[in-house]
Amino acid sequence: MNACPECGSTEIIPNLLVFADEALLGQRPPYVKLIEPKPEKPPFIWSPRSVATGFRAAICGACGYTRFYTEHYAKLLEAHRQGYTSQQDELKIVPI
Ligand SMILES: [Zn+2]
Repeated sequence: MNACPECGSTEIIPNLLVFADEALLGQRPPYVKLIEPKPEKPPFIWSPRSVATGFRAAICGACGYTRFYTEHYAKLLEAHRQGYTSQQDELKIVPI
C-alpha cells in the first residue's frame, strides 16, 4: 500500500506483524491454511500437504485505515488452483 485508499495519505506504516491474544499463550497469531484435497486413490501412506500464512498489516499514519495482506500470495494462489481448501474442522492449533 503506497497511498491510503481512504484519505490519499502516503504516510503508510507497512510490514507490521498481526498478533492475537492467543499469541500470549504460546499460540500462533492468526493465519490461513489451505490443505490439499484427498486424491480419489490415495497411496497407502498419505497425508495432505498444506500451505499456511500469517498476515501483515499496513496502517495509514494519517487516518488509521488498516489493510491486512500476506507476502505469500503466490504460494496460496498456486495451492488454490490445485484444489487446496481451507478445512476448518481439520485445523489444529500447534504451539510454537
Ligand atoms: Zn488514510
